[in-house]
Amino acid sequence: MSPRFFRRGRPDATNDIPADMWEDCPSCHQLLYTKDVEPLRVCNHCSYHFRLSLQERLAVTADEGSVEEWDADVEAVDPLGFPDYQDKLAKAQAETGRTDGVFTGRATIEDEPAALGIMDLAFFGGSMGYVVGEKVARLFERAADLRLPTVVFCASGGARMQESLVSLMQMAKTSGAAGRLRRAGVPYISVLLDPTYGGVTASYAFLGDIILAEPGVRLGFAGPRVIEVTRQKIRQDVQTAEFQFDHGMIDAIVPRPELRGTLAQIIRWSSA
Ligand SMILES: [Zn+2]
Repeated sequence: MSPRFFRRGRPDATNDIPADMWEDCPSCHQLLYTKDVEPLRVCNHCSYHFRLSLQERLAVTADEGSVEEWDADVEAVDPLGFPDYQDKLAKAQAETGRTDGVFTGRATIEDEPAALGIMDLAFFGGSMGYVVGEKVARLFERAADLRLPTVVFCASGGARMQESLVSLMQMAKTSGAAGRLRRAGVPYISVLLDPTYGGVTASYAFLGDIILAEPGVRLGFAGPRVIEVTRQKIRQDVQTAEFQFDHGMIDAIVPRPELRGTLAQIIRWSSA
């Protein structure tokens, strides 16, 4: 729904307009006709990249009908009996229709076979608990066995605090599995999405042979709120893909309309 639209008036007409037909661009504040920005969801005035859901990301990345999901049945655990965690998990599962915060599987991208991981911010802020770590580790291991170039779209608030040390352990597990993929000589492309923070940044997000990011992505280890608590002052732009690209941490910033083709091209080069 577009608050601007309704604020501008036409109170009698609004009842006939579907709420999801228009949206405000948070960057340039143009009123956008939703159909004009789909399916990539990039503002056609200023190129602002709206967030994609997991399903939307899958649809704009993989060839239609090529997707096979792996390990969809890995069940969430509550290792510490953390207060309210099971209820919150059940709620997130009901809302998303998924068991936890990452999709893994295989698909083709412009006819190039690939192992594919996509983190889901809608599930506990894309946090990495046992299930996310386990599925990402299995993705790397299976991709190594099958010799499938691997693409992981990273988006995360960091470790899942309700799983405490079990969550932190996933950093070592996924990093070890990424190492196995590297030793097998199979390429791993990491794509950083907005936002990528914490334990995911400190593990597989930055272990790609090639690290890409969409424009304007915010990323880092400690998030802005944590930094604020430490009373340290950092430049506003340090935690952006553009700054990190300028300082050699990211190989390329790729606008979404070029991303699928870029991934396919890298996979073709790597297997040539
Ligand atoms: Zn815009």
